[in-house]
Amino acid sequence: MSAAILVLVEHLKGTLADITFEMLGVGRQIAAAQGGQVHAVLLGKDVNALAARLGAADSVLLADEPNLEQPSAEVIVPLLQQLMAQKQASLVLLGGTNASFGLGGQLSARMKVPFVNFCKGARVEGGSLVLTSQLFGGKILSDVKLADGKGIVSVYPGAFPAEAGRSDKTPPVEKVAVPPGSPKVVFKRFVEPDTSDVDITKQSVLVAVGRGIQSQDNVQLAEELAQSLGGVVCASRPVIDQGWLPLSRQVGKSGMTVKPRLYLAFGISGAPEHWDGMQSSECIISVNTDPKAPIFDGSHYGVVGDAVELIPLLTDRIKAKKG
Ligand SMILES: Cc1cc2nc3c(=O)[nH]c(=O)nc-3n(C[C@H](O)[C@H](O)[C@H](O)COP(=O)(O)OP(=O)(O)OC[C@H]3O[C@@H](n4cnc5c(N)ncnc54)[C@H](O)[C@@H]3O)c2cc1C
Repeated sequence: MSAAILVLVEHLKGTLADITFEMLGVGRQIAAAQGGQVHAVLLGKDVNALAARLGAADSVLLADEPNLEQPSAEVIVPLLQQLMAQKQASLVLLGGTNASFGLGGQLSARMKVPFVNFCKGARVEGGSLVLTSQLFGGKILSDVKLADGKGIVSVYPGAFPAEAGRSDKTPPVEKVAVPPGSPKVVFKRFVEPDTSDVDITKQSVLVAVGRGIQSQDNVQLAEELAQSLGGVVCASRPVIDQGWLPLSRQVGKSGMTVKPRLYLAFGISGAPEHWDGMQSSECIISVNTDPKAPIFDGSHYGVVGDAVELIPLLTDRIKAKKG
């Protein structure tokens, strides 16, 4: 079957994101196996210069308008729907990123085609496209065969080589118009992350606290332990959401990815969204009152106990050792 593939280009402040090249690479791989063209869909404000860098695509479908700075799903989904019909596209590749979160489900419902999320692999077998989808934060990999090859696919960042989607060729550019409408969600301004805080991605020792730390006052106990170890305190999302620590200290899918030599996790259950951000730590030691807490499954060492009681004891022991 040979039908077109659409790739939604991701970019921020004039720079194309790596996920764009990953998607173009996998799009090319699928097109090579089953025929069809790959179209990059580029929309934004003052973005036409970026089109020249999308040479891995057979063409760039460009919507460059002043009101398209950070367009919302209300704008992007109808455009993709329109382009799928115009180009007779069977597949739409979206980044599995915060920028494209929420688009796939809507487009799939509108087009009445399946949505494959967290796609980490793609191959053509006996003429059918088989996609590998990651479930439960990586515990299960599931192969999905798209009936008649149609679907919306959210591509997991880092799963495919970006190099495969880079090319020096200059692609033809076709201007496209965004369907008219009055979106309710409108971009106002960028809020830059606070860079005055410490960078938790560069620390070799992290003392992480979760909801099990129970109160803001107890976060101070973790601060003292981190100081005694020459490390820094970070946290799971509930701690950040309560305002007990700044956003710059959040570890996980919607926070930072860290790789310290030592990750001490106190009162953290080990939800996939947290695990995603700290699983590459060299040594993970977890303390949790629940012996069945999922965090123990991936930890190098585990202690069943009360974090609030254990942290000060540990701090005292380390201080005493240091003399
Ligand atoms: C789109 C999305 C993105 C997300 N992004 C992130 C992210 O970036 N980072 C993140 O962390 N989460 C993220 N989450 C939330 C995630 O799903 C979990 O809800 C969160 O990680 C749970 O945090 P927690 O482990 O601190 O809390 P809980 O899951 O409530 O776990 C608390 C743990 O503390 C233990 N406990 C209780 N009292 C004590 C005690 N005295 N001593 C020791 N242990 C104790 C409990 O047994 C329990 O295991 C995201 C969710 C979604 C949907």
